[in-house]
Amino acid sequence: MTTYFGAIADDFTGATDLASLLARSGVPVSLRVGIPEGPPNRTAPLEIIALKCRTAPVGEAVAAALAAFEWLRQAGAQRFFWKYCSTFDSTPQGNIGPVAEALMKALKADQTIYCPAFPENGRSIFMGNLFVGEQPLAESPMKDHPLTPMRDSNLLRLLQPQVKSPVGLANRHVVAAGSEQLEHRLQELRKAGVAHVVTDAVANADLATIAEACRDMPLLTGGSAIAMPLPELWIKQGFVTRSETTSEDQPEAGSAIVLSGSCSSMTNRQVASFIAKGHPGFKLDPLALAQGGVEEVFEWLSDQTADASPIIYATAAPEDVRAAQAKLGTARAGAIVEATLAACAVKARDRGFRRFVVAGGETSGAVTKALEIRRLTIGKEIAPGVPWCFAQTDGRPVAITLKSGNFGAENFFTEAFERLQS
Ligand code: ADP
Repeated sequence: MTTYFGAIADDFTGATDLASLLARSGVPVSLRVGIPEGPPNRTAPLEIIALKCRTAPVGEAVAAALAAFEWLRQAGAQRFFWKYCSTFDSTPQGNIGPVAEALMKALKADQTIYCPAFPENGRSIFMGNLFVGEQPLAESPMKDHPLTPMRDSNLLRLLQPQVKSPVGLANRHVVAAGSEQLEHRLQELRKAGVAHVVTDAVANADLATIAEACRDMPLLTGGSAIAMPLPELWIKQGFVTRSETTSEDQPEAGSAIVLSGSCSSMTNRQVASFIAKGHPGFKLDPLALAQGGVEEVFEWLSDQTADASPIIYATAAPEDVRAAQAKLGTARAGAIVEATLAACAVKARDRGFRRFVVAGGETSGAVTKALEIRRLTIGKEIAPGVPWCFAQTDGRPVAITLKSGNFGAENFFTEAFERLQS
């Protein structure tokens, strides 16, 4: 199928989040992990390339985004999207503006919008200020982020140092007045030389208005939610059509396993709930792993029967995580756990497991890499932002879902397996 839409995401779980919102439309979505090698093949109408460039130096991020763009353009894409975090994670030396400007130049676009709003997840923009729930961004926990501390809530002020051309605002009053008024405002700003327009949105209806007003822009930028209404518009215009997920990547029947490296409070509850249902579990201890390696868990995995749906987890309470980090160092503790879960994924695959539920953003990256998965076809959504994905590993089809941190309800793991069967 010819590709119509090409998105470039600045990190991996952000890309799966975008993929699941686009897939709600029923139009096939495909996600590539990193810039694909070789020319486009078996492309979907909606293609996403996941980069890992959120905190990369500007030159590196721009080069990666342009390479991704070229591949998407070769695939036939006519509309492009630059996806970043709904909390606008960046620094004054950040990549959001420079990548947008480079893509605009490549597309000869004179204007784009910036809309990281995600109302369903509590991210809203009013008068150019970004809110996380009821808190301004700079008063939210994002102010203490280890890599991208957000100390200003005003998107115009955050963006201006990152770009060369002027930044302007299309405020909520204009958006609420409808797509024609918004188009008029964008035109007015264009005449005044404003290339970068921060666009307010506080509800899903605003996102629909913005999508309608901006449907002819070759490049849009924002969080995942602003892309959500686009496929419906393109279906009406006849540019894309709904269809079932292609059968090639559907998993064969096979046993299922949960691998959990997230220590968020929700994942802790999900693990406890899954074990309470009687699934066999192996708890990884970073200290024991540092001393004894992976033999013990490998042996345990070899003893598991195909129908038991076991779980291997490092998920632990905050005090246990702190204790392991104090002894091993935070980075080393994390790396040991990630490497072990990744090795377990490979071992499980080689033993015939074909359905994988992975919990944790970093953990998901490690597991996907170890399984050498380069492409994911997006299937049914299990929870908002968490879809089943179909992929090939070692020449065999598998189903995999990648759940970050606090996503999903308490019975997420069971729900995931049930959803695959329905
Ligand atoms: P989340 O999506 O919840 O942030 P991640 O997988 O991104 O989950 O991050 C969790 C990090 O914590 C990973 O690097 C993982 O290896 C590490 N980790 C998991 N369990 C433990 C533990 N018991 N002790 C120390 N670090 C751990």
